[in-house]
Amino acid sequence: MVEIYKPVTLKEVLQILNKQKTVIFAGGTDLMVKRKRWAGISPKFEEPVVFIADIHELKKIERSEDKLIIGSAVTYTELIESTLIPEYMKNIFSGVASPAIRNIGTMGGNIGNSSPVGDTLPLLYALEAKVNLETENFKRQVDIKDFILGPGLNDLKEGELITSIEIPLKNFNAIDYRKVGTRKSTALAKLSFLGMAEIKDEKVQDIRISFGAVAPTIVRSKEIENEIIAKSLKGEEIDKDELIKLYDELIRPIDDQRSTKDYRKTVCLNLLHSFLKEIIKSSDS
Ligand SMILES: Cc1cc2nc3c(=O)[nH]c(=O)nc-3n(C[C@H](O)[C@H](O)[C@H](O)COP(=O)(O)OP(=O)(O)OC[C@H]3O[C@@H](n4cnc5c(N)ncnc54)[C@H](O)[C@@H]3O)c2cc1C
Repeated sequence: MVEIYKPVTLKEVLQILNKQKTVIFAGGTDLMVKRKRWAGISPKFEEPVVFIADIHELKKIERSEDKLIIGSAVTYTELIESTLIPEYMKNIFSGVASPAIRNIGTMGGNIGNSSPVGDTLPLLYALEAKVNLETENFKRQVDIKDFILGPGLNDLKEGELITSIEIPLKNFNAIDYRKVGTRKSTALAKLSFLGMAEIKDEKVQDIRISFGAVAPTIVRSKEIENEIIAKSLKGEEIDKDELIKLYDELIRPIDDQRSTKDYRKTVCLNLLHSFLKEIIKSSDS
């Protein structure tokens, strides 16, 4: 028999988490798959389960000029329907699974699951999102790249809950997001690519490039991005082939049931090439 808690407030959730080891259950779309046993038999939960989907403090979306704060229990459907969410983000959230999963699945759960395939992660890495965490007595904020430690691994401490995700907003005027899967709906990514750039005065003022599902965690290199920006601002030539070589070294896909490592790497580098071509063309023009 599974022991369950259905707290009503955030305070109650944190009190329960402080008392004992539990499983935090938001939409349950990852958990029910991970804990499943066989047809007709309920999934196995060894620790008590705490339902957080209806905790109103975790369901807020707030936006100011320079940042967006998304409660960890906000569902994808709620994000897509919110007027506060930029269209390019809605495009990413609309590509997650299917309507039924989007109605209950959350960004908090995508981060909690910490899979390199998670569709929200390339965006969160690119925008340098911060994960807000709370225990009954303590609050902290961690960069997404430091929170996720590997496939299925993260820095969530005992008694801690992801309460919200803080996403800095910037004016990118070139955005290219591609999720490559077997089909458009209900397919995990074979790979994903996100390129974002701010082109102003014919120069690359800012650029962010991230890849999902092709390494143990999301691939992003601030060093390479800074080099592109520096060269562009100085008016120096940007060698696309050289950049592609640098990313080639960072992208380390595996063969699995969804795809092969060769396919993944080739498509990533092709998508990168076409994004760089667009960016460098628009900054040259
Ligand atoms: C059919 C199907 C298709 C899918 N397709 C996609 C897809 O296309 N793209 C994609 O990215 N994912 C996909 N997924 C995976 C899943 O839907 C997402 O990862 C979703 O965001 C998980 O959210 P959830 O609220 O259901 O998480 P849950 O299953 O409730 O939780 C996932 C993990 O996060 C932890 N957790 C949840 N909330 C918190 C919190 N607030 N604080 C701390 N820990 C927390 C849980 O304890 C658990 O370990 C799919 C799943 C299914 C079943």
